[in-house]
Amino acid sequence: MSDCLFCKMAAGEITPDIVYQDDEILAFRDINPKAPTHILIIPKKHIPSVAEAQAEDIALLGKIQLVAAQLAEELGLKAEGFRLVSNAGKNAGQEVFHLHYHLIGGAPLGIYW
Ligand code: AMP
Ligand code: ZN
Repeated sequence: MSDCLFCKMAAGEITPDIVYQDDEILAFRDINPKAPTHILIIPKKHIPSVAEAQAEDIALLGKIQLVAAQLAEELGLKAEGFRLVSNAGKNAGQEVFHLHYHLIGGAPLGIYW
């Protein structure tokens, strides 16, 4: 997807503040953090949202959750807790239509975050 911001990050054309990457997954700091720690975790593969994920993506989605848990530990979020959220569509306020999970923590979080 040549016009997708997160595909450009996955391809290395735009360099965010990266905290983890492997051949399938990239994790970086959100440019507008809503909590003391706010990381975005994306598959390098373009999937518009979790609503469009397919059976072939099962292993990839599972791996993203394990990476999230690993990052939560490394970033000191595990003891006090954290949230892992993926917005899909209009009512969720999805802004970037490349699947991403928000890993947020570092303070008590509101109901919707
Ligand atoms: P969502 O509303 O779930 O689609 O979330 C999109 C997130 O992407 C927002 O939290 C934005 O702050 C974040 N974002 C947008 N552009 C960038 C960027 N260039 N680098 C890092 N995060 C970004
Ligand atoms: Zn994309």
